[in-house]
Amino acid sequence: MTWTYKTSELNPESLLLQESLFALANGYLGVRGNLEEGSENHGLSIRGSYINAFYDETELHYGEKLFAFPEIQEKLVNIIDAQTIELFFGAEEERFSLYNGEVIEFQRKLHFDKGYSERTIHWRSPLGKEVVITFKRLVSFTYRELFVQQVAVEGINFNGPVKIVSSLNGDVANYTNPNDPRVGSGHAKLLKVLDVKVKKDLQTVLCETSASRLQVACSTKHWISKHATVVSKVHLDQTIAVYETNLEQPLVFEKQSIFTDTRRHGSDLIKKGENLLLAVSPFRFDALAEKQQSILHSFWQASDIEIEGDQRLQEGIRFNMFHLFQSAGRDDVSNIAAKGLSGEGYEGHYFWDTEIYMLPFFTLTEPSLAKSLLRYRYSILEGARERAREMGHKKGALYPWRTIAGKECSGYFPAGTAQYHISADVAYSYIQYYLATKDSGFWSEFGAEVLFETARLWLEVGHSVEGTFRVDAVTGPDEYTCIVNNNYYTNVMAKYNLHWAAKVYQYLKATDPSAFKEIKQRICLEETEVDAWTWAADHMYLPYDSQRKINPQDDSFLQKEIWNFTETPKEHYPLLLHYHPLTLYRYQVCKQADTVLAHFLLEDEQDFETIKASYEYYEKVTTHDSSLSSCIFSIMAAKLGDMEKAYNYFMETARLDLDNTHGNTKDGLHMANMGGTWMAIVYGFAGLRIKETGVSLAPRLPKHWTGYTFRFQTEGSTLEVKVEQQGVRLRKLTGADVSIKIYGEDYCTSEPIYISLQ
Ligand code: BGC
Repeated sequence: MTWTYKTSELNPESLLLQESLFALANGYLGVRGNLEEGSENHGLSIRGSYINAFYDETELHYGEKLFAFPEIQEKLVNIIDAQTIELFFGAEEERFSLYNGEVIEFQRKLHFDKGYSERTIHWRSPLGKEVVITFKRLVSFTYRELFVQQVAVEGINFNGPVKIVSSLNGDVANYTNPNDPRVGSGHAKLLKVLDVKVKKDLQTVLCETSASRLQVACSTKHWISKHATVVSKVHLDQTIAVYETNLEQPLVFEKQSIFTDTRRHGSDLIKKGENLLLAVSPFRFDALAEKQQSILHSFWQASDIEIEGDQRLQEGIRFNMFHLFQSAGRDDVSNIAAKGLSGEGYEGHYFWDTEIYMLPFFTLTEPSLAKSLLRYRYSILEGARERAREMGHKKGALYPWRTIAGKECSGYFPAGTAQYHISADVAYSYIQYYLATKDSGFWSEFGAEVLFETARLWLEVGHSVEGTFRVDAVTGPDEYTCIVNNNYYTNVMAKYNLHWAAKVYQYLKATDPSAFKEIKQRICLEETEVDAWTWAADHMYLPYDSQRKINPQDDSFLQKEIWNFTETPKEHYPLLLHYHPLTLYRYQVCKQADTVLAHFLLEDEQDFETIKASYEYYEKVTTHDSSLSSCIFSIMAAKLGDMEKAYNYFMETARLDLDNTHGNTKDGLHMANMGGTWMAIVYGFAGLRIKETGVSLAPRLPKHWTGYTFRFQTEGSTLEVKVEQQGVRLRKLTGADVSIKIYGEDYCTSEPIYISLQ
C-alpha cells in the first residue's frame, strides 16, 4: 500500500520542483521543502515559509486607473527562515552540500501516514570523508506554531570534528517573476526586522510587514544527543548557533521553531512564542511524530480512498489528499490559498477554488473543518458588502475574486471582479454543507445572512426584460471569454442562490423565530425583497440554442469564430501566456469548464440530451489551460457513460503536480485540482450526489482498476463504499441509519448492502 512518496532525483530543476512537493503545513504554518544546508543552484530555489493569511499590502499600479479599481493588494508574506542547518566536517571544515563532493546515495520521502518528510544522503566530501546524514522535518498538527527538524549524522570512514551551524534569518524576501501573471511581480521585500536576540539557548527574531504592520516572531531552541560546545550570536538580521563535537558516535541534533503572529496571538509575540517553545521543548522528534501520526490516522480513517490495481495512481491520490489536509485554514480568519501553503503563486490568495473544488472533500469527510472554512467567508462579509457599494450596488454582498483578509485584490477586472459568480459559489457551498450535514443551527448561526446578502446582489446586478431576469456584463469561470451578458453558469448559480435564500427565509421564520427576527432587523430585510428573489429565480433567463440543442455559454459565444486549434503550435499553450486577452475574447475558446461545470453542479436544470450535447460541443473548444478543468470533464464524461474519457481526464488530474504536467508546480501545488481528483472519483466514477431529495450513488468501475473504496459522511453517519468487479458494497461505519438511492433504487444502511455493478 502506497503511503510514501519517494524520489532520488537530484538535478537542480527537480530539486526546485521538490520544494513544492515536499512542502509541509498544518493549515496555519507552511514550510517549503527547501534544503537545510541551502542551495547553490543559481536561483533555482524558492526558499519560503508562510503563515496562512499573514499578509502585507502592496500598491497596485495602473497606467489608467478607473473608478473602484483596487488600490492595494494583499500578499502572502515569506516569513522568517528557520530552515537553515549547515554541517562542516573535519579540521578543514568541509561544508556538506549536494553540489560539493560526491553524493553516493540520495533519497527523499514524504510520509502521508506519518505526516513528516525525510531526506537521507550518503555523502563523500571532496577530501574523502564519508558520512550518512538524515534530515527529518515536521510541521505539527498538535502544536500549530511548531516546526521541528532533526538531523542524524553517522560517520562511515570518519569520526573527527563536526560543526553544526543553525540559523534563524529575518532577512527574507518574496519570490517574483514579472513575466508570469500567475506569480507575483515587484514588492519582494515585505518584512522589516524589529528585533534579533540570543538569550541563553533561545534565539528569537521579530519582524513586521511594511504596510499592513503585522508582526511575526520566531523563537528557536536546539538539542543535541552528545556533548558539544555551543556558541550563539547575533549576526545582522539573523541569529546563529554553532555546535561543535565529533563523530566518534553517531549524533542526533534537533531544532524546534515556534512561530507567532499578530493575527492569531495579538501582542507580546516573543513572550508568547517563548512560552510555547518551553512547553514543547521536552518532546523529542519521535514523540512529536507519534502525536502527528495519531492525527493523520484519524484523517485517513475518515477520508482515505483505496484504488486496487494502480499503485502510481494510488500514490497520486493520497498525495493530493494529504496536501489538501495540510493546506486548510482552521481558524476562521484563514482559508485555502490556490497554492495552499506550498508556494507564492497567485500571491497566497483565496479564490472560488475553495468553495467549488475543495469544500466538497471537507464537507463530506471533515465537516467541522468545512464549517470553519465557511465561517471564513462570513468573517469577510462586511468587506463584501462594502465592495458591493463601491461597485454601485445599494444592497447585497459581492465577494472579492481574490483576497486574503477580505479586500478585492484583483488588478485585472475582466477576469477578476467581473467574476460575480463567486458570490453564488459561496452560497452554493453553504447549501451543500447544509444538505450533507443537516446541521440544524447552521442557518441561524451565520449561514442565512450570507445567503440573504448574496441573493440581494443578484437583484442589484440583474434586471427584468420581457418577463425574464437577466444578468449583464459579468465573466463566467472561463477566463478566455470575458464580460458577457447572461453567462449560463452565472445565471443558473444565481438562480439557485436566490431560490435557496427564499427557502431559508421561510425555514428560519418557521423554525427559529428569534434568530429570524434578529437577522431580519439587523440587515433591514423586507418580505417584499424575498418575493422579488423568488420571482427572479423563477424567471431566470438560461440561454438555450435550439438548433445545436445546447446551452450557449452566454449571449454572444456562439456567434464568434471558433479558435483555430489545428494551427496553434503546442508551445503556445497555455494561450494566456502567448495571446493578448482581446485576441482570445474574439473566439470560441475556453480556458476551462464553464457551462459543463454548471451542468455538473446543477444537473437537474437541464435534460440529459442538452447536457450531453453541451459537453460534446464545449469539449472541442476547451484547452484546459486551467488546472480546474479536466476533473470536471472527467465527472461529466462518467455521468454521460463515457468511461474511457472519464478515465483519461481523471489521469490528467491525479498526478498533475507529482509529474509537473502544467510546468509550474515550483510556484506551488494546484490545490483546486487536488480537490478535483477526489471529486472525479466520488462524484464522477461513484456518481455521488447530495440533493434536497437525498443522497444517491451510481458507481462505475474504470476498466483499468479492479476496485476502489472510499468513505464519506452524511448527517453525522460515516458510510463506506467499496466498488468491485462484481458489485458494490456499502456499509455504515458509524452513526444512525441513512436512506440512500443506488442506481435509482431506495436502500437503508441498517444492514450492509451488496448489489451488482451496472
Ligand atoms: C483559473 C481560475 C482560478 C485561478 C486560481 C485561474 O487560472 O482560471 O478559475 O480561480 O486560476 O486557481
